[in-house]
Amino acid sequence: FFISFEGPDGAGKSTVLEQVLTQIGSKLKTQYLVTREPGGSKIAEKIRKLILDPANQEMSARTEALLYAAARSQHVEEIIKPALAAGKLVISDRFVDSSLAYQGKGRDLGISAVKEINDFATGGIEPDLTLFFDLDPRVGLSRIAKLRPGHEDRLEQEKLSFHQKVYQGYQEIAQKYPERIVRIDAGQPLEQVVEASIQAIETRLPE
Ligand code: C5P
Repeated sequence: FFISFEGPDGAGKSTVLEQVLTQIGSKLKTQYLVTREPGGSKIAEKIRKLILDPANQEMSARTEALLYAAARSQHVEEIIKPALAAGKLVISDRFVDSSLAYQGKGRDLGISAVKEINDFATGGIEPDLTLFFDLDPRVGLSRIAKLRPGHEDRLEQEKLSFHQKVYQGYQEIAQKYPERIVRIDAGQPLEQVVEASIQAIETRLPE
């Protein structure tokens, strides 16, 4: 079973993921593997550094999209597929939906074009469940500014209008795949976000 955590910057995905595992990790019947994107394997982490390096301002949108897809391909082949084949629960902090939202919508490459290169990259593998942490990008960005002042990833310096497009992209994707994507209100207090996430996972996880 494959779960992805998705949402705009500052929505709290990674913190929630950590807390969800603290609460239910030991109760799970199968072994689990937690991973993240961009990255998740040696080669993919190298590509992550290349993409997020503030020195690479001139990177074109298509290059960025292809690099994300390349990193993902390696991550799927090396980490995700073998774990799923071994019957593990795989949880990934971001997956293809991030590319659809950030590169497809945020960088105007088009959701369907970005979906195509990612289908090629992943061989069509999709999460069984996606938790979408829904938060107004203005709130997300102000959280980041408070928590990590001076944060220097190239992409987090993007202006608000970019993040609003990304958010719009997530909304479109959530509407398009209602069976797979569960929306979690990430504006609630952390405890409630964690609880809603656990509930979504427990109702869908096969026995
Ligand atoms: O989730 P995390 O903070 O590790 O993501 C790192 C950065 O990469 C974020 O600033 C996010 O906006 C960006 N990103 C992106 N396109 C993706 C995935 C992540 O621009 N497909």
